Amino acid sequence: MAGSLDFTPDDRCNAFITTCREAPFSDGALAGVAVAVKDNISTAGIQTTCGSRILEGYIPPYDAHVVELLRKEGAAIVGKTNMDEFGMGTTTETSAFGPTRNPADPSRVPGGSSGGSAAAVAAGLVPMALGTDTGGSIRCPAAFCGIVGLKPTYGRVSRYGLIAYANSLEQIGPMARTVEDVSRLMSAIARYDPRDSTMLDKPYDHRPSADIAGLRVGVPEEYFGEGVDPRVAETVRNAIGVLEDLGATTVPVSIPGMRYALAAYYVICTSEASSNLARFDGVRYGPAVDTRKSWHEAYQDLRLELFGPEVRRRIMLGTFALSAGYAGRYYAKAQVARRNIRQDFERAFREVDIIAGPTMPTVAFRLGEKTDPLSMYLSDILTVPANLAGIPAISVPCGRVDGLPVGLQLMGREFEDERVVDAAYAYE
Ligand code: GLN
Repeated sequence: MAGSLDFTPDDRCNAFITTCREAPFSDGALAGVAVAVKDNISTAGIQTTCGSRILEGYIPPYDAHVVELLRKEGAAIVGKTNMDEFGMGTTTETSAFGPTRNPADPSRVPGGSSGGSAAAVAAGLVPMALGTDTGGSIRCPAAFCGIVGLKPTYGRVSRYGLIAYANSLEQIGPMARTVEDVSRLMSAIARYDPRDSTMLDKPYDHRPSADIAGLRVGVPEEYFGEGVDPRVAETVRNAIGVLEDLGATTVPVSIPGMRYALAAYYVICTSEASSNLARFDGVRYGPAVDTRKSWHEAYQDLRLELFGPEVRRRIMLGTFALSAGYAGRYYAKAQVARRNIRQDFERAFREVDIIAGPTMPTVAFRLGEKTDPLSMYLSDILTVPANLAGIPAISVPCGRVDGLPVGLQLMGREFEDERVVDAAYAYE
């Protein structure tokens, strides 16, 4: 039965950029479930900004594949959530629409870049939300806000209609308060779509099982090293102890290629971004350019005015990394480092079924605390490896430090999203 859901959120955290007051829904597996969608996922008829002024007022003419599926399953899309501009950030503070606050402590950031989705779920405004994860953007805000978030295997969820930041790294994924709901939302969105040529036809259709007897859990030393708050490390070690109590065995493993993970990630993501964002030229999208100026002047002025500083920084970095004479030095080397990390994971997964560690090295930062971009980039160290390797990774709440949520991260073999979901479900 089709109906309409009158959704008026008490959005004290600034989780939404746009809300839909009368969100229609129909019959299906998610009939009448209110779902929030990150604002880089195209929704026909609903403004989609990517957290950027350059797309303010842009109304996509079509739905992303995942949105088509949500509508088909009867979900009510109640709004579009705040995010770091084009997904570039770890705090949601680079949004052109003001930062989102963390419902667990409004003086803190919710993490990013899917901070609005995480905050909307954590504040109880919606039971489920979609995020995207290029280098941690689902798992980081899930950890900081104390909810569950899954980055699926690369190629399991269609990216058709996702406004690209770094195509080779990013996936759309589910966020919710429970593992069961994450799994339900994943079952709705992980369906084959020929419009995304990087997809494999491996639909996810799974009910979580808490039986993890005999599961071999790898614990990489690199996930508990320098830069990781010792109290966060201890909280996560205790959580891994719970998995042992449930019948899992733990095995020390190593991902030596992690030394180069951040450098490789930032070369690759900025390179892809510099190319993807070239289309925002004031002709095809965004406010029209001033035609009295020369093309170069008009293009430059518009992009200087409408892109924020983090986006401009990354376009410049990526353009440099790809430029003649430097591409071999940076982009090609980053691809080698990426392959090494992938191989490290493959080797580890010959001995274990799951790899466990913290999602983030610390708890949520204070608003305004990360002023230096490099120190912000460093906080992605534990999440980017899964994107470089293309493997599934989930963050599940596992305790608190200073009253703030800590996330346990569980990574699995390619296309074994079900197994990471089961391990998280058993823990929860
Ligand atoms: N913080 C990382 C970045 O800024 C991850 C972002 C993401 O996953 N979209 O690139």
